[in-house]
Amino acid sequence: MRLLEERIEKDGVVLGFGVLKVDSFLNHQIDVLFLDKLAAEFAEIFSKARATKILTVEASGIALACAAARFLELPVVFAKKGSRSNVGNDVYTASSHSFTHNTDYNMEISKKYLSASDKVLIIDDFLATGGAIRALLSIVETAKARVVGIGIAIEKGFQGGGKALRDEGYNLRSLAVIESMGNDGIIFGQADR
Ligand code: 5GP
Repeated sequence: MRLLEERIEKDGVVLGFGVLKVDSFLNHQIDVLFLDKLAAEFAEIFSKARATKILTVEASGIALACAAARFLELPVVFAKKGSRSNVGNDVYTASSHSFTHNTDYNMEISKKYLSASDKVLIIDDFLATGGAIRALLSIVETAKARVVGIGIAIEKGFQGGGKALRDEGYNLRSLAVIESMGNDGIIFGQADR
């Protein structure tokens, strides 16, 4: 999606260790009207997926998932990170490794909000190694629900997570794919829109 690539070129800050900061519009300050444009793309891409629910991870996936949910008229469930006493024991859990923080963490979803009849559309802001998405996939599998699509705003193609998921047959669609980023600037690959 050219609009997103342009925004990344204009406002993204490349950190030396393979991390792109997009705090000015996606991860800290949120440009809500811009997110609506990304969400409209997701809604078009996944309009025929017949999802019953959008799944994401707190915190940075929530705004994008909610924007997409408004277009698709679906509820959003977000995985909570870490153990929380206010969710209770009736939860699905999975662990993942945080690429940006270099730590392992648990995520959990209350069994009340995901069931075997659900067809799940996963939405997240970034895809790098695929760890976060795989933790969500394992929760969906445990719930015996079905994944009908994965929508990512920014995929870092050079970290391989997206290729592995596509090779496994997931309907993974990314609005911007970064092939490399460094001294020569950001090079985009073929995105899905
Ligand atoms: P993965 O689990 O695919 O390795 O990483 C995905 C998760 O890590 C995303 O949910 C996102 O929160 C975070 N992440 C990975 N790479 C980046 C990055 O370059 N910039 C930002 N802002 N977050 C990232």
